[in-house]
Amino acid sequence: MAGNLKDLPQIQAVLNHPSIAALAERYSHAETVSALRKITGTLRTALLAQGPIELPDFASPAFAAKVADKIEAARAPSLRPVINATGIIIHTNLGRARMAPQAVRAMQAAGAAPSNLELDLATGKRGSRHAHVEKLICDLTGADAAVVVNNCAAAVLLSLMATAGGRSVVASRGELIEIGGSFRLPDVIAQSGATLREVGTTNKTRLGDYEDAIDDNTAVLLKSHTSNFRIVGFTSSPARSDLARLAADRNVILIEDLGSGVLIDLSPYGLTDEPVVADILKAGVDLVMFSGDKLLGGPQAGIIAGRRDIIASLKSHPLMRALRIDKLSLAALEATLRLYSAPFDPVSEIPVLRMLAEPVADVHHRATLLADALSGIGIKGVAVEKSAALVGGGSLPEQDLPSFAVAVRLPALSPDQLMAALRHSDMPVIGRIERAHVMLDMRTVSDGELPLIVTALERISGS
Ligand SMILES: *Cc1c(COP(=O)(O)O)cnc(C)c1O
Repeated sequence: MAGNLKDLPQIQAVLNHPSIAALAERYSHAETVSALRKITGTLRTALLAQGPIELPDFASPAFAAKVADKIEAARAPSLRPVINATGIIIHTNLGRARMAPQAVRAMQAAGAAPSNLELDLATGKRGSRHAHVEKLICDLTGADAAVVVNNCAAAVLLSLMATAGGRSVVASRGELIEIGGSFRLPDVIAQSGATLREVGTTNKTRLGDYEDAIDDNTAVLLKSHTSNFRIVGFTSSPARSDLARLAADRNVILIEDLGSGVLIDLSPYGLTDEPVVADILKAGVDLVMFSGDKLLGGPQAGIIAGRRDIIASLKSHPLMRALRIDKLSLAALEATLRLYSAPFDPVSEIPVLRMLAEPVADVHHRATLLADALSGIGIKGVAVEKSAALVGGGSLPEQDLPSFAVAVRLPALSPDQLMAALRHSDMPVIGRIERAHVMLDMRTVSDGELPLIVTALERISGS
């Protein structure tokens, strides 16, 4: 029977029905009330808009089941897996690097059972959490010593606090970067207790500029990788080895904030701008820092590698405790670093590297598979199109990776509406809009995710 506004019951009255009272018992009173408010609110809106409508039997088990569904939905995890079809491999908003299964298993093991995190199994004495990865990092970078903290921002902060607190840091104007909206190098230098001495200009800084700026109060020359932009045209900056010689002559420390930091040469895959950590240390830089979850392809972490005496002072710094890496990330980082040595090939084991190295023909094949599957369920207007993927994560901003995307357009939905519907799928799919189509870039999607995309679009196009 069609009901009217006056037939909408009070929440308290509904709570008195035994099946609803049982829900309040099983979940909580507050969640049950909240779910009831949502349901009656929707009904009220419909009644106001349309006049009399069919109302549920508020005392029935079927209605109680509906309320239970609402409560369960509200309890669903907030942080959930999604499908990255943006074509940006290291997507900051989507959690950056997807990790190798070996790293995920290591996290699981470290979380599920006690570990020797800070116990030396050989002696039975207290050990250092840093010991689990230090030798691996040194072997892979040629560094004398290394230490790992929570992320690269923490690595920069700690390094500057330990080496330059109360003294001055000389940095080129062209390298005073901001990353991710909140990490501004001049602010970080200030927070470390050091004073920034800017040298050079936006596009050109010469060795002599650094030389002139060094005085008795100077502790550090800071280089940073301009990872999320490029200044093109007339530019110059001194060679790293010249800066290193200057720093050594004047007894100051040369630090380089690399951001992404790669351990292997990526030029065979067309990526030529990203310096390899080992080469930077070889050029004479005293301390480098880079992220664990950018091109390294591991968990969030900040790796600091370089001179033994400086690393020792970082390890014993009072703030180390506040910035240290947690055991799950440490486990994943160790497992990821192990994939960089034989018998493993990092480019086939580490998802970030595999995605950027994947031959474009294979990406095209994946796009064809998806397009065929979508046509197979009756979705028209699907096309495979050339696309340009990006490394992301502030790395290599200029260098596109050739890719292919599936362009989708549904007659009933605007591109924005289709993007929203994809985000609301059981497995949210994140694409991008180009030329009035939703583009699903296949360089960042795995084969195993294709059926989930098909299911999502089948539901959307059928409803
Ligand atoms: C990304 C980046 C950072 C910050 O690294 P997080 O691991 O996100 O803290 C610092 N410096 C540079 C140059 C970067 O690219």
